[in-house]
This record gives sequence, C-alpha cells and structure tokens, in this order.
Amino acid sequence: TPAATGLGSQAPELPGWTHVYSGKVRDLYIPDTAADAASAEQLLMVASDRISAYDWVLDSEIPDKGRVLTGLSLWWFDQLSDVIGNHVISSDVPQAVAGRGLIVKNLSMLPIECVARGYLTGSGMADYKATGSVCGIQLPAGLIEADRLEPAIFTPATKAELGDHDENVSFDQVAETIGADQAGTIRDLTIEIYQRAEEIARKRGIILADTKFEFGTLSDGTIVLGDEVLTPDSSRFWDASSYESGQPQASFDKQFVRDWLTGESGWDKSSDIPPPALPAEVVEKTRARYIEAFEKLTGQKFPA
Ligand code: ATP
Ligand code: MG
Repeated sequence: TPAATGLGSQAPELPGWTHVYSGKVRDLYIPDTAADAASAEQLLMVASDRISAYDWVLDSEIPDKGRVLTGLSLWWFDQLSDVIGNHVISSDVPQAVAGRGLIVKNLSMLPIECVARGYLTGSGMADYKATGSVCGIQLPAGLIEADRLEPAIFTPATKAELGDHDENVSFDQVAETIGADQAGTIRDLTIEIYQRAEEIARKRGIILADTKFEFGTLSDGTIVLGDEVLTPDSSRFWDASSYESGQPQASFDKQFVRDWLTGESGWDKSSDIPPPALPAEVVEKTRARYIEAFEKLTGQKFPA
C-alpha cells in the first residue's frame, strides 16, 4: 500500500476543461477557453467519491458517493427553487464524471459557512456547555444532547484552510466581514431554507438536525445558493424513528467510518498521522447509507 497522505485521490483530466482547485470532496474546473478562474463565467464542479473524517481526507473512496451528493443536491435545489435561486446551469458534463459533475455559474462566494441548527449537538453543544450560548445566541438553561431548538438558530462559521476546523463566529463578526445588510439577508435565508427542508425531511422519516449552506453572488449582486445542499456531507441526518434526546444520535452517513477509525483501527485521532485505509466492509456499509439517504429523501430509486 502506498503511504497515506490524507489528501485523497487526484482530480481526473477532462477534455475541454482545466482543473483549478480541489477541496476535500469537490474538484473545480474552468473551460479551456477561459483566461483564469477569476474571469470564467462557468465552472465544472465535480463531486468525487472522497470521504473526509476528523478533518482528514481518507485514502479510501466510497463508490457512488459523488453521484449521491450531486443527485441529492439537484433534487433539493429543485425543491427550494421558490425560496432561493442556485448556481446550476446544466448536468450535461463529460462522460467520465457523468452524474457527479455540474456546470455551474462561477459565483463570488461569501466567505461564511451558513449553518442552521434545529437541534443541539456537536460543536453547538460544546459551545453551549462552555458559554450557555451558541455563536453568541443565548439559549435556555438545562438543554441536553440532541434537544430540539425552536426556532432554529443561525450559527455561522468561517471557512478553514484544508485540514483545519471551521471556526464558529457570532453574527456581529459576520456583519463585520460582509456588511450588516448582507449578513442579515443570509441569516434569514439560512433559517428559511432550513425550515422548509426540515419539514420535507421529517415527512420522510429523517430529522435534519443541522445543515450548512454556502451562498454566493451573481454579477448583478443577487444572492444564490452555491456548492452542495442538504447532503449527508453538509448536514446531520438522524433517523426519526430512533430519535431520543439525552444521547448522541447515530449519524446517517459516516457513523461506520468514525466508529471504525476511533475503535478497531487503533488510529489515534489526536495524532498528526493520517488515518489508515478503510476495510471493504466499512466502505460497503457507508456506501449503502449514502444511497439510503438519497432514496429516503427523494422517494426515488438511486440510479445504478
Ligand atoms: P468543505 O466544504 O468540506 O469544508 P472545501 O471547502 O475544501 O471543503 P469542497 O466542497 O471540496 O471544498 O470544494 C468546493 C469548493 O468550491 C468550495 O471552496 C466552495 O466554496 C466552492 N464553490 C462551490 N460552488 C461554487 C460556485 N458556484 N462558484 C465558485 N465557487 C464555488
Ligand atoms: Mg465544501
């Protein structure tokens, strides 16, 4: 086995497109005809099968994960189209990335991870335990793990460099970064979209505990949704039938990966050593969970 890098697979070469950026999961391309990324009007955004955990990109891939993320995002963009516009132009992409790629408008991305939380867990819970509030929003005393928050709250974070944690920030810090008007707009949009999506998911037996949106602006200043939306990677989905507050809920997607990495694998998550490759069984169970999320939410069979 090659040495682990914690960087995952490389972006494929695609005819007509120049690779310009890779994040943890997605690879971005500009048309060969564009001079540079800043002036390109369109991008090809490809969701790979890479998976990250504990801020590492794993060496193992989850087959079909990229198609699940892209298919689910497209479905949600459509469900939300009367609330907010989005960056999608077309899904007519090179054959090598069929189903995983989208041609999108090149947005000027707002440098904020727009998180909505309808339930208290994760970094929100950690913040609450330490301060009684989350991102500066005071909450009632005595809340327990996985309690519902009503109404849902806007808990923004700033985007970290590859390998770093995103950092929770207050609304005032967002306003300082992008201006009070735009900060207010994305806060209200984040909550409105969350509420709409939470209702849709609940009818299908899934609790949308929290989720992250990324907004960007078109050349005329209109704010639209970019990136991916309401996928297992950007959201916490819980099984509504087994939900019980006061305890950690099994996450819909990466639970097998996290359990194996922190248990049987012997890997130390506090070390700076990249995590080991996943056993085939963990890969297969994780793949099945992603597909289950797609099928439960959309009510459609995942295309083979
Ligand atoms: P993570 O979101 O997991 O923290 P990341 O930021 O490293 O990871 P990916 O999601 O793998 O990134 O890659 C997608 C990148 O493309 C992100 O930087 C995202 O902000 C950017 N992006 C998404 N949609 C657009 C768009 N329409 N125009 C310009 N950039 C976009
Ligand atoms: Mg991202």
